[in-house]
Amino acid sequence: MTPLLNSIKAVYYLPEQMTDIEAKCPTCANKALVNEEMTEVKCRSCGFRATYDNYIEIMKSKALQMADNIHLDWDKT
Ligand SMILES: [Zn+2]
Repeated sequence: MTPLLNSIKAVYYLPEQMTDIEAKCPTCANKALVNEEMTEVKCRSCGFRATYDNYIEIMKSKALQMADNIHLDWDKT
């Protein structure tokens, strides 16, 4: 596990099993499946499909957006 993967996992609770790996779909928030080679992520609910690298990038940017939103909420109060 790289530090990046660990930080993503901390936010999205990605499990570490080697088979039937489930990830959180970035578009509909349902369960998405990671293939056994850890190269592709697919969501059966909305049809989301990306390489695992792209998925990590998407999740990373979503985590950063989330952090920005929390910051904005703090600024309002
Ligand atoms: Zn989906």
